[in-house]
Amino acid sequence: MMPMFPEPEQTPVVLSRHFQSLRSTPDATWKKRSYRAFRGCDECYWLQHETDGAFHPRRKVAWQRMAVAGTVELCTEHARLWKEST
Ligand SMILES: [Zn+2]
Repeated sequence: MMPMFPEPEQTPVVLSRHFQSLRSTPDATWKKRSYRAFRGCDECYWLQHETDGAFHPRRKVAWQRMAVAGTVELCTEHARLWKEST
């Protein structure tokens, strides 16, 4: 018998409201990052905040995006979405 409320899979990765304006800055450069200790994606952090914790888990940083307006560190999924959205 199927459970009535199956464990949810990982929450689909979407974009936060927080970085909406930063995302469209055209001067950005990207750099691959790999940290020995866990570092959580900035966009995942804001999604978690904006969804009152419904978004999870916070994924690990894979990319650093540098722009005059600000630097963010993003997971693989969010880096892909950011690149697609500009
Ligand atoms: Zn992320």
